[in-house]
Amino acid sequence: MTTIDTTVSPPAGTAAMELVGDTPMVELASIGAGLPHRLLAKCEFMNPAGSVKDRIGRHIIRRAEDAGLLKPGRSTLVEATAGNTGIGLAAAAAGRYRVLVTMSSKMGPEKEAMMRAWGAEVVRCPYGVPPQSPDSFINTARRLAEELPDAYYVDQFANPWNREAHELTTGPEILRQTGGEIGAFVSGAGTGGTFSGVGRALRAAGSKAQLVLADPVGSILASRSRGGNAPAGPYLIEGIGGDFVPELLDLGSVDRPMNVADADSMRMCLRLQQEEGLWVGGSAGCAVVAAVRLARLLPGPRTNIVVILPDGGARYTSTIFNEAWREARGITRPRSDSEEDR
Ligand code: PMP
Repeated sequence: MTTIDTTVSPPAGTAAMELVGDTPMVELASIGAGLPHRLLAKCEFMNPAGSVKDRIGRHIIRRAEDAGLLKPGRSTLVEATAGNTGIGLAAAAAGRYRVLVTMSSKMGPEKEAMMRAWGAEVVRCPYGVPPQSPDSFINTARRLAEELPDAYYVDQFANPWNREAHELTTGPEILRQTGGEIGAFVSGAGTGGTFSGVGRALRAAGSKAQLVLADPVGSILASRSRGGNAPAGPYLIEGIGGDFVPELLDLGSVDRPMNVADADSMRMCLRLQQEEGLWVGGSAGCAVVAAVRLARLLPGPRTNIVVILPDGGARYTSTIFNEAWREARGITRPRSDSEEDR
C-alpha cells in the first residue's frame, strides 16, 4: 500500500503551476525539407494556459511573493498585455489574486474572452496612439495601478523577473534539448523577455548561436537594432514588435534582425497547420518565416535552428484562421509549391 508522506509540504502554488515549462521541441520536417539546416520548434503553446507567458506568470508571482510584494486574497495584479501575459498571470494567480489588465484595441477577441474566463478584468485601450499618450495601454495600466489600493504593477516590459524566467527555464531547456548544438535561435520580441533571457542563457553556456530577431514589418525593433530610425507603422501580428524599444530587449545582442511582412507570417501559420499539423499564432508564423530564410543564409555544416512557437492558433480563430478576415486584407492561401518561403 502506498502511504502519503505528510511531512513533505506541497510546492507553493497551483497544480497548473507545476506544468509550466519543460515544453517539447519538435523538428519541422516538412517546412524544413530541402533546407541545409534543421528547424527545431520549441512548442510554447503546450504550456498549461497555452502560451510562453505562463512562464513569466509563474515566475513573477513567485518572485513577488518572496519579496513580500503580494498579499493573497487582497492584492490585484495590474498589467498591460497583448493577452497572453494576462492569461498566464490569471492562471498562475488562480484563487489568490485579482487580475486587471489593459489591452490595445488591435488584439482579437479570443484572448480577452480567455482572460475573462479566468476571472480577469479587461480594459481596452486605443491602438495606434503614441507610446507617450496617457491613453496608451501601458500608461493606462500604470495609472490604474497607482489608483488602486493593494495593486502590484507587473510591468513586464521592464521587470527583470520576466527575462529571468527565460534565462532560468526556456534557455536551459533549449540547451538540453539540442545537446547545445544550436546554429541560431530565432524569436520575435514583444517585451524582449524571451529573446534576451534565452540569449543570456545561451551565451552563459558558451554558445555561439546567432541570435535572430524576427520582427513584423511596421515594428521599429529590427531597424533600431541596425542603428536605423525607421518610423513605426501599423501591422496585424499580435504580441511582437512595437513602436518603442522595451527596456528588457538587449538590442546589442541581436546578431541578425529580420523583417517579416504580415501576409508571409500568416501564410506560414496556414502552412504549419496543413503541413505539420501545428496550430499556432502569428508570432510563431513570423519566427518560422525568419528561420526558413536564415536556414538558406547560414553557412554549413548542417546545424540546428531553434525557433519559438509562442502560442496556439485557437487565439486567432476570428483573424488569421478566418478566411473572410484574411480575404478582406488580401491574404491568400499559400500555394505550397510556389510559396516563396519553400
Ligand atoms: N508572441 C506572442 C503571441 C506574445 O503574446 C508575446 C508576448 N507579448 C510574444 C510572442 C513575445 O514574447 P516576449 O514578451 O517574451 O518578447
